[in-house]
Amino acid sequence: MVQKFEYDLVIVGGGPAGSSAAFEAAKRGIRTALLEREESIAETVRTSGVTWIQNIKEFGIPEDCFNPIKNYSFCSPNNEVTISDELPSAAVLDVRKTYRWLADQAAKQGAEIFVKTNVNKVIKDDKGDIVGVSGTGLQGEIEFHSKVVIDASGFSSTVCKAMNFVTQWKRFGAGAEYEVKAENIDKDTWWLMVGQKYSPAGYAWIFPVSKDVVRIGVGIGKPESSVDPTERLKELIETKIGPIGKLGKITPIEFHYGLIPNDGLSRKTVYNNLILVGDSAGQANPLVLEGIRYAIKFGRIAGKVAAQAIKVGKTDEESLAPYEKNWRKEIQSKINSAGKVQERWIGFSDDDWDKELDVIKELKPEEFLDFIKADFGLTNMIKLATRHPKLAVRQLFNLVKNAKE
Ligand SMILES: Cc1cc2nc3c(=O)[nH]c(=O)nc-3n(C[C@H](O)[C@H](O)[C@H](O)COP(=O)(O)OP(=O)(O)OC[C@H]3O[C@@H](n4cnc5c(N)ncnc54)[C@H](O)[C@@H]3O)c2cc1C
Repeated sequence: MVQKFEYDLVIVGGGPAGSSAAFEAAKRGIRTALLEREESIAETVRTSGVTWIQNIKEFGIPEDCFNPIKNYSFCSPNNEVTISDELPSAAVLDVRKTYRWLADQAAKQGAEIFVKTNVNKVIKDDKGDIVGVSGTGLQGEIEFHSKVVIDASGFSSTVCKAMNFVTQWKRFGAGAEYEVKAENIDKDTWWLMVGQKYSPAGYAWIFPVSKDVVRIGVGIGKPESSVDPTERLKELIETKIGPIGKLGKITPIEFHYGLIPNDGLSRKTVYNNLILVGDSAGQANPLVLEGIRYAIKFGRIAGKVAAQAIKVGKTDEESLAPYEKNWRKEIQSKINSAGKVQERWIGFSDDDWDKELDVIKELKPEEFLDFIKADFGLTNMIKLATRHPKLAVRQLFNLVKNAKE
């Protein structure tokens, strides 16, 4: 017997995008179901959880969900720089706690959360438009019928793939990470580590979670490099290379592994009765492959737009289009610029990285942060180029400016 449910809105994926969409829709009185295939929200962690205090405040994420960071250290094979700020602007999230808080917020507004519910098919009407999803739930086969479906299933993009709207991401980052206990942690300081030994196309990191725990990880761009991030991570920890050596004795607590799209903003994200959000929409900053703040922000917008469309009884592509318009206006130009900088970084030799760190040394904390966050507003870039007449900074400016034109 197939178990059947009727909702106004069905959201596939209980990550930050899905929970945030559920929160906004349920808040507006929309009957919302949030479907998650794992046993609990954030059972598996697939991210290192760095984000920005400004966004944390905007979202209302509680203080006990993150560790603030105010020193930003970078190292290449023969160079090192630390940019220190007076107040913290970055943060390393307790990922499980934060993601569960986001889902709880949605539940408090009345969204119903179904865990152990794995969606694998779509239900279509006679015109071929989506009108629900099906899969397996706690008691076997399950069907959810709805007016709108939000695909927040992350990298796997289950719903839009089942609709044959998209194929697998071609360019993506693969990341492996150990959360470890370590003897000597500076909890205010993160490390980004670049160069061939760390990652042939990407970077390695040390992100402090608390005074006793850090995440040590490696991200590798695919298909640019065939190196396995898990193998590389083990080598880095065994050889205690660079700043990893300063951590003293390391005791692994948990292993994390994940994939993140890096194909730019190539996907259309609204169709009749369907919205794509978060990693399933490719909404990530390609420079450091961070997408949590976009998943939450655009998740909320997706929930709001879906709710409005459901309320007026018009859920076609045109009615959902304000969602796509909104997020493209906010990030399209920044992400295109960041893609250009990333292309340049991917081709770097160790020597190029040593020199690039000299450029980064010149930046004030806020300039460095704008850069790493891909906040390439034209005003920011003009300020940067006038303050730093050095050729290399000018080159970066031109790169970003050209991407905008
Ligand atoms: C190694 C690594 C490190 C990263 N580090 C950072 C970082 O430091 N900062 C940052 O901002 N971003 C980082 N990211 C990116 C960030 O994790 C993602 O951008 C973000 O998680 C996207 O959120 P989402 O809700 O779209 O997808 P996800 O967080 O992937 O959530 C999708 C959810 O859908 C569920 N699901 C999938 N398929 C189905 C299905 N068929 N049925 C039911 N449920 C399903 C999954 O179980 C999951 O819970 C990193 C990514 C990787 C891979």
